[in-house]
Amino acid sequence: MIITITLMFGLIGVVMGSFCNAWAIRLLKGESIAKGRSKCPKCHHQLAWYDNVPLLSYIILWGKCRYCKKPISAQYPIVELASGLLFAGLYLHFLPTTTQGWVILVLWCLLSVFLIASFVTDWIELVLPDNYTVPAIIVSLLIALAVSFIPGQGIVWSILLQRIIQLGIFVGIYCALYYGSKGKLIGDGDIRLAAVLGLALALPQLLVAVFATYVIGAAIGSFCILTKLKTRKDVIAFGPFLIIGLYIGLFWGEQIARWYQHLF
Ligand SMILES: [Zn+2]
Repeated sequence: MIITITLMFGLIGVVMGSFCNAWAIRLLKGESIAKGRSKCPKCHHQLAWYDNVPLLSYIILWGKCRYCKKPISAQYPIVELASGLLFAGLYLHFLPTTTQGWVILVLWCLLSVFLIASFVTDWIELVLPDNYTVPAIIVSLLIALAVSFIPGQGIVWSILLQRIIQLGIFVGIYCALYYGSKGKLIGDGDIRLAAVLGLALALPQLLVAVFATYVIGAAIGSFCILTKLKTRKDVIAFGPFLIIGLYIGLFWGEQIARWYQHLF
């Protein structure tokens, strides 16, 4: 049963990944997601539904457009596969047995849709649109409310208050970084992502997420400079690191924090 539901979540994730990718690319171009069928970005041939099946079409077409034979960006299958794994991982992480558990899982899936789309736009064009970050903050607030709810007791205000304090401290630090560096170190969209982390994660998860963000950022930044993909002067998007850090914090934060405490 668990395997079936995990596969189902994986499948939903792949489809959502495909949607987020299309949404993000159209948003960057100023087009509506509701506007017409997808076209090949190279030859502009309208794609049939069978050219557009997430993951499968890419594999069957061997990564090339059916009409012009030019390569399809690997971004599509990568985002689709990553989203599938993420959704399956979310189900396995929460393994809900209560209504509250299911509510929290569904909220995390919804939050992930906005975060995947943010990841794509920030990665490609260094923008974190309010269309994604603002709904993400609202969903995070709902997550904070859902985890603060204890059946029979209602909302436990001390748990909710802790999330609000996390939010305040975290957003405060990011505002200082933003205004202190005049927007050179991080962007204002990163402040909104910081609000998401502050609300959605519990304290040990949040600390691990912050740490992971900087380790991954430093590692990928150095890698890009060493391999001359980027120079020291290039701006590297920070949002994707925050998003990866958030999921590391969610999935492994408690274990990493416990392991760290045992060291001392
Ligand atoms: Zn084409």
